[in-house]
Amino acid sequence: MSRASADVAIIGGGLIGVWTAFFLARRGQSVTLFEKGVVGAQSSGTNFGNLRLQGRFPGQYPLSLRSHALWEDFKALIGEGCEFAQTGHLYCAFDADEAARLEAYAQVSESHGLAIERLAPHDLRRRFPWLSDRAIAATFCARDATANPRLATPAVARAALRQGVEIRENAHVTAVTRQGDGFRITTADGRGLSCAALVNAAGAWAVHMAECFGETAPVFAAGPPQFVTEPMPMVFAPSLQTIDGSVIARQTERGNVILAGYPRTAADAVANRAPVPPAKTLAAMRALAGLVPALAQAHVIRVWSGIEGYLPDMIPVIGRSDTTPGLFHAFGFCGHGFQIGPGVGLCLSELIVDGATPTPLEPFSIARFRTPAAVSEKFLKEFDRPGNTASKRYPETVPTIGQG
Ligand SMILES: Cc1cc2nc3c(=O)[nH]c(=O)nc-3n(C[C@H](O)[C@H](O)[C@H](O)COP(=O)(O)OP(=O)(O)OC[C@H]3O[C@@H](n4cnc5c(N)ncnc54)[C@H](O)[C@@H]3O)c2cc1C
Repeated sequence: MSRASADVAIIGGGLIGVWTAFFLARRGQSVTLFEKGVVGAQSSGTNFGNLRLQGRFPGQYPLSLRSHALWEDFKALIGEGCEFAQTGHLYCAFDADEAARLEAYAQVSESHGLAIERLAPHDLRRRFPWLSDRAIAATFCARDATANPRLATPAVARAALRQGVEIRENAHVTAVTRQGDGFRITTADGRGLSCAALVNAAGAWAVHMAECFGETAPVFAAGPPQFVTEPMPMVFAPSLQTIDGSVIARQTERGNVILAGYPRTAADAVANRAPVPPAKTLAAMRALAGLVPALAQAHVIRVWSGIEGYLPDMIPVIGRSDTTPGLFHAFGFCGHGFQIGPGVGLCLSELIVDGATPTPLEPFSIARFRTPAAVSEKFLKEFDRPGNTASKRYPETVPTIGQG
């Protein structure tokens, strides 16, 4: 028998929705979460699994660090594991300009208390003999980690259920209206719920909910292509990234190497498709072989992607609605939401229960889109879109199905 009303309703059963539900229930709130499909099947279950602290937007460090502490405590907090592995992350540069960018990132990380090691070529050859000599410098952060996205969201959802959260799967929210000081939620099957507060954690689809309340954000749906190889003998332990994005890889404890390919490809949120053009598989494997020659013969056995919401300044929307008391948004995570997910859930629960959170969320306000947003250089370079001449790594002929 489902509830007729709840203190808080959450739209979206991704990582953000389930963590928010978990923390709210721990604070004694009655919570109903609506998921149009099944929990953790979209971006939260298809991502690369990187929990990287290096190279973050500077204003995001307090949130990222708070989130990281929750990942480090995942098993105790949630009651089961998610293959959280503190492998460290090796961030590599191919030339002096890239090394200068790494140095700038390192200084920001250090200003937030992170320990960053700087590695010159001789250090790299000694510590990571599997690296080719293409990398001329690198930074290493031992606190950086990875986790298995297939396991994390369902585990948090199970913990939320144990705290009393009601989770309605296959419950597509089709209408959200104001009802007194609260809200009325209606799902496709005609059922509904009344609630005092509403969290919009609907991922790449969230802007529709915001627009019901007279506000918007220029969300662009895209998917970073992902590849996995057959199990290989263990070659490398830390997750590995080049600052130009051509190599983003990690080797799981089963030996499979997971890779992400750039630029991201436009996705179709309506058809629920995030295509992986075959040319990107070849390019990613070539780039990997150039950096880790021992993997030159590895076979890719599966490719996939997921639908993520991006914003032109590459910073998510997190916090109160700009128009409607009781409404909270958390979307547009621009490829970083796995790492900050637990922290976002905690901060939203504090905003809802206490009216404030100690973590600064001002940079993430939806109000910044009242005027046209600044377009970051990263946004221009890292997407395959028709006419995107800033994206230099792939020829225009790369097949890009479903581009918007
Ligand atoms: C391929 C890929 C690789 C990535 N790699 C990383 C990484 O290594 N590290 C990192 O930090 N981040 C990464 N990300 C980003 C990260 O996965 C996302 O930022 C994060 O999962 C967002 O979580 P979410 O809960 O907001 O979204 P989602 O997981 O997309 O969840 C939103 C949910 O809302 C539901 N929904 C939407 N509309 C409705 C509705 N009307 N009614 C009911 N339910 C609705 C959807 O079905 C969906 O399940 C990656 C993303 C992708 C796609």
